[in-house]
Amino acid sequence: MPSKITAVLCLVPLIGTTIAWKSEGHLIVSRIAYEKLQKENPQALAKATNLLQYATQKNPSLNSAEGDYPFVESSTFADTIKFRGGAWQSDWHFVDTPFLDQGDDISQYPDFKFNPENITTAIQGIASWINQDSDYQNNFVYQTMMPKMENDEKYGQSYALRLLIHYLGDIHQPLHCLSRVDQQYPVGDRGGNMFPVPNHYEAKNLHSVWDSVVYEFHVNDKLVSISQQIIFQPYTSETWDKIGSSVQTLMSNNAIKPSEYKNFDVFNWAQDTFEQGNPAYTGVTENEKVPDAYVSKEQPVAERQLVLGGYRLAYLIETLFGSSRVAEEASLFLY
Ligand SMILES: [Zn+2]
Repeated sequence: MPSKITAVLCLVPLIGTTIAWKSEGHLIVSRIAYEKLQKENPQALAKATNLLQYATQKNPSLNSAEGDYPFVESSTFADTIKFRGGAWQSDWHFVDTPFLDQGDDISQYPDFKFNPENITTAIQGIASWINQDSDYQNNFVYQTMMPKMENDEKYGQSYALRLLIHYLGDIHQPLHCLSRVDQQYPVGDRGGNMFPVPNHYEAKNLHSVWDSVVYEFHVNDKLVSISQQIIFQPYTSETWDKIGSSVQTLMSNNAIKPSEYKNFDVFNWAQDTFEQGNPAYTGVTENEKVPDAYVSKEQPVAERQLVLGGYRLAYLIETLFGSSRVAEEASLFLY
């Protein structure tokens, strides 16, 4: 019979934060940025990490998912807090650009509402705040967050940096940058959230299918062997290394040109992602199993988006925190 102590020890791993498979995309994007920065601009990475640690030093219970690798581990924070009092930033994870799949005009759908406080303007607002642009206090992000941050400017920046790392992942998920609008969905289908598919690996709609990198994180051992088990955060050195080798493979399989990631044109990023999202509605039917042909066609698209997001995140961090201080000019690019 196990002693009481053994029973308690057996329970210990369950106390950590369980990372659902949907989080893996974010952990991959931030890890790609981490690897790139570590190699090319470790000072910028160290400065960004210092800023992240300000909030956890002030409030140690802020995020139980963060341990030795906060830059990567904090990438899931923006989702975690949605259900724990952080719903005020739920609309900042996406932009509902209308996708008129029946070739209509948006003026035919007066009930469709576009929210200007979305992922594009949220990314700009946070970057502007961290960069201390002259008008950063006029931004809705700053104005929404500061009262919630005990009016501690640095605590707010530290918190906002967590959101920025997460949003750089979301803005590259094709179904985070569009909403299909047609006769059936006159107010939009919320990026495929209203497109039901039979439950497969916990994905019950088209949006979730894409959140899982088109089922990548369940059946495919080439990318993430970690998906076969429950991953706890903070990482152990073993899980850190395991994800690291998966990420290296992903990066070598997807070449990204400097011209693609060395820019801050957030609206253009969202437009690119929107265009990736249009074909996501082709070759798949509501309430029917997602065909294998769809999966094999779209998985590489989703994978490449992860790498592109990681590279753009690295460049943004390098710009905001790097010693070369391109940041002095960053506001020119951001607006
Ligand atoms: Zn999100």
